[in-house]
Amino acid sequence: MSRLTGDKQHYLGVGILGLALMVALLVGVYQMARDHYIDELEEKGRASATLYREILRGWLGRYMALAPIYAHNPEVVRLLRWPDDGVRVDLVNQRLEEWNSASGAADTYILDAEGNTIAASNWAEPYSFVGQNYGYRPYFTDAMQGRLGRYFALGTRSGKRGYYFSFPVRDGRRVTGTVVVKVPVDGIEQELRASPYEVLVSDAAGVIVLAGHPDWRIHNIQQLSDAAVARIAEQRQFGDGDLALVPIDGLDASRATNLVHAVPDRSGAARAEFLHIAEPMTVEEWRLHLMLPTRPARAQALTMVLLVGAVVLLLVLGTVIVWQRRRRLVERLAERERAEARLEQAVTERTADLRQTQAELVQAGKLAALGQMSAALSHEFNQPLAAIRSYAENAGAFLERGRQDRAAENLSRISRLTERMAKLSKHLTTFSRKPKDTLGPVSLDLTLEETLSLLAGRIDRAGVMIERQVPEGLFVRGGQTRLQHVLMNIIGNAIDACGEQDAPCITIHAEAVGSEVVITIQDNGPGIAQGLMDKLFDPFFTTKAAGHGLGLGLSISYNIVRDFGGSISVANGPVTDGGAGARFTVRLQRAVSAVEAAE
Ligand code: ADP
Repeated sequence: MSRLTGDKQHYLGVGILGLALMVALLVGVYQMARDHYIDELEEKGRASATLYREILRGWLGRYMALAPIYAHNPEVVRLLRWPDDGVRVDLVNQRLEEWNSASGAADTYILDAEGNTIAASNWAEPYSFVGQNYGYRPYFTDAMQGRLGRYFALGTRSGKRGYYFSFPVRDGRRVTGTVVVKVPVDGIEQELRASPYEVLVSDAAGVIVLAGHPDWRIHNIQQLSDAAVARIAEQRQFGDGDLALVPIDGLDASRATNLVHAVPDRSGAARAEFLHIAEPMTVEEWRLHLMLPTRPARAQALTMVLLVGAVVLLLVLGTVIVWQRRRRLVERLAERERAEARLEQAVTERTADLRQTQAELVQAGKLAALGQMSAALSHEFNQPLAAIRSYAENAGAFLERGRQDRAAENLSRISRLTERMAKLSKHLTTFSRKPKDTLGPVSLDLTLEETLSLLAGRIDRAGVMIERQVPEGLFVRGGQTRLQHVLMNIIGNAIDACGEQDAPCITIHAEAVGSEVVITIQDNGPGIAQGLMDKLFDPFFTTKAAGHGLGLGLSISYNIVRDFGGSISVANGPVTDGGAGARFTVRLQRAVSAVEAAE
């Protein structure tokens, strides 16, 4: 398997693991957040439940005192004493109608000791209770036993649900009848319906007596016991029909909270999940139920998950980007290092090449110079040789004639001439040797002296005046032969340049400037055309006729001076009497003393 495929598999594995971790994390976060928000929802629900319990208590409390008050009314007491008295009945009917409408009750009526209605606020209505017997209702029994009766039922005549309060009417010590006040549910149910939650109330048996949701009224929240079914039928509490289970899935009346599903009381609303909260009420054994939609809590939990997911994603992304940047940087650095190594290698190779070429050029230049010089030397040697021959012939002739003094004079001339020739040849032997690379202190004035004596013939022929402004005892760092070569080239060129002038003159100046020795060689020739300045030091650049110059002199000199750690430059000098000629400036490192002159 290649490394790349291995890497890919590795990344894939890490990716899958990361994804699984991420999913697990998000699921965990969702569950925690949902539980948290549902807990919050429950708290809110409990607070609302307290409020609704108070509302319901207040609602019934308003009517609770009415029945006892009516029961003490003398007209009521007297009516039960003479129930067949039509005038009294009419009077009490009127009273009940007034009281009923003033209190806002649904119906107010009076039952005799058998449970027959003898007067009612609705005496004039088609559903009038008058003449009806309610002996089967528990509120009647309770009141007849001297207690305040309380009961919830669906009215048999009106078909309307209501809460019944009843109270015994006493005549002396005897209970003669019952006053009943039926409390309507419309108002309170409207209030429940206005709630943002589903609010309902169930009785002890588990039947919904009040509900904001109209479809849920008179339904049971759980399976009713047989005894409860029998009792409800006997009391005709909820009419004649059978009770049905309320359409709320998962409703568990035995638990204080649970999650349920139902279609809420809103037009077009879809089936949704609710948090169901149940709380006991002070009224009888009723229970208050609140159903709060869990959608907002779930949405909040989801938002939380998205937030956490986004943060985790950003973190992961950030890490990946940083990591990739680092990797790219490391790669780039490595690449740069490799490039630098390649460059160094190339530079080393080129330098070696250059050194080789330069050494070859020096040698070639020297050969060329030797060629030039041999022409000059043959002249230099021929002339003294001819002279020697004639002096020798003269000496022979004088000896024959016995003129020994004259012969001696000619011989000493010969001797001087050979001395001069020996000096010349000495220069030639040193010149043709390839110099060692060592650098050391070189005496400038001595080197110049030798150079000028080598060039003496050319200087004489051209009639050039040499002006020397070189102090004694100046040492430069270099090699003597090579320095001589440089001076020879520059001065030789200067001789060529100013030879045509009326008063050819070359000024050679040297002085120490700081750690350097600056040598200037100025001629009064035509100078150098501006366009040629740059090319002067190029190898094989020459303006001289074929056979007179190779164009190597300055190029070789340039390299030699550079080897010495110095520099060479050219300019046209200031205008002097004979005109502004070329001025060569050679800068060399100053050497302190001449320990040993380098070759
Ligand atoms: P060569 O002397 O063989 O021509 P050099 O490299 O010594 O080669 O010189 C190159 C050219 O520089 C010469 O041909 C000449 O044109 C120019 N040159 C050098 N020195 C001078 C000078 N002092 N005045 C004018 N021109 C010069």
